[in-house]
Amino acid sequence: MGRVNLKDVSKVYPGGVRAVDRVGLEIADKEFVVLVGPSGCGKSTTLRMVAGLEEISSGTISIGQRVVNDVAPKDRDIAMVFQNYALYPHMSVYKNMAFGLQLRRRDLGLSKPDIDKKVREAAALLGITDLLDRKPRALSGGQRQRVAVGRAIVRSPQVFLFDEPLSNLDAKLRVEMRSEIKRLQKRLATTTIYVTHDQEEAMTLGDRVVVMRNGVIHQDAPPLEIYRRPANRFVAGFIGMPPMNFVDGRIVCRDGIAIFEMAGSALPLPKSLAKSLSVHANREMTLGIRPDAIAVSAESLGVSGTTGRLGVRVTLVEPLGDRKDVYMTTPARQQLVARVDSRAAAVEGKEIDVFLDMGRAHVFERGELGANVTATMSKTGEAGE
Ligand code: ADP
Repeated sequence: MGRVNLKDVSKVYPGGVRAVDRVGLEIADKEFVVLVGPSGCGKSTTLRMVAGLEEISSGTISIGQRVVNDVAPKDRDIAMVFQNYALYPHMSVYKNMAFGLQLRRRDLGLSKPDIDKKVREAAALLGITDLLDRKPRALSGGQRQRVAVGRAIVRSPQVFLFDEPLSNLDAKLRVEMRSEIKRLQKRLATTTIYVTHDQEEAMTLGDRVVVMRNGVIHQDAPPLEIYRRPANRFVAGFIGMPPMNFVDGRIVCRDGIAIFEMAGSALPLPKSLAKSLSVHANREMTLGIRPDAIAVSAESLGVSGTTGRLGVRVTLVEPLGDRKDVYMTTPARQQLVARVDSRAAAVEGKEIDVFLDMGRAHVFERGELGANVTATMSKTGEAGE
């Protein structure tokens, strides 16, 4: 069984960089887990420790039933796919895929025809059968990446490890390969840990997404849960594009109603939250609202109950085709961006009113790691997205 378990795992590099800090992570058999976070957050180090390419400083890593802390990478029953493909340039595609098996043929109890069958099956699965005689230099980036994936597949490992495998590909190919990897993973039903800095890749691929920063896990949940109920301001700002808007202000509770008061304006919060928010009354907090929860007309907001209204000046409009991003500033110079229908009226330099779907607003403690105090409160809104 390809279960992977990290217990209290840390990595301190020589020189004292604490790259991974007491990480705990349980990955079920057949699960697809994505580690995501900004550059330097410790995701590759975590993956490389599972692979055995990096020693762990403390903690325990198990694969299946076995603690692998002291097991050599080649004996861990994992296969890793790297960003730079790591293909042997002088070998054909066939040989690149077969080589690892041929080296360990006796240990694995495989005959030559067994290996041939495995290589050809994997090649067929990846649509690279007609490339088997080519050398890597005669392949496009996408084809090389397929070969690297093929080399992992032929080994039928307990666990696949992917380290930013699509980063060297152009945007269109990246999206294609992304769905291919997802399809393959489901078909092969193999436990997978996938590292990326790209939040969209993380959201689309993962059964579960683990968001890291400075060596620490900040949230570990299914993708939509992370989107709808980000645990803190860092996660809220990292997941979603354009990023969530944040404005500082304070909660004021009056007559059973909670209001978010900010310089020059006040936004009503949903009635269902009033009681829970009352414990934060009169405290400095930060409101978070996603760009697509802001509209330039009240009608286009849809069905939600609580609407906030703000007077703003439009500073920039970026057309995207069917949608456009409207950048704006409030009279108190707070910056916001809305993603709206391309036909919506918003002209650079004009003063307009925008409408906020407060059912989808989040309230955070102050600070870049401020906890999302609305994440655990029951509300409609983001849950309905
Ligand atoms: P990510 O994959 O999220 O970009 P890494 O796991 O590569 O992050 O790195 C985490 C931290 O550890 C960074 O601060 C990085 O500079 C540091 N680091 C990575 N590899 C080494 C190394 N071999 N020696 C010293 N520090 C390292």
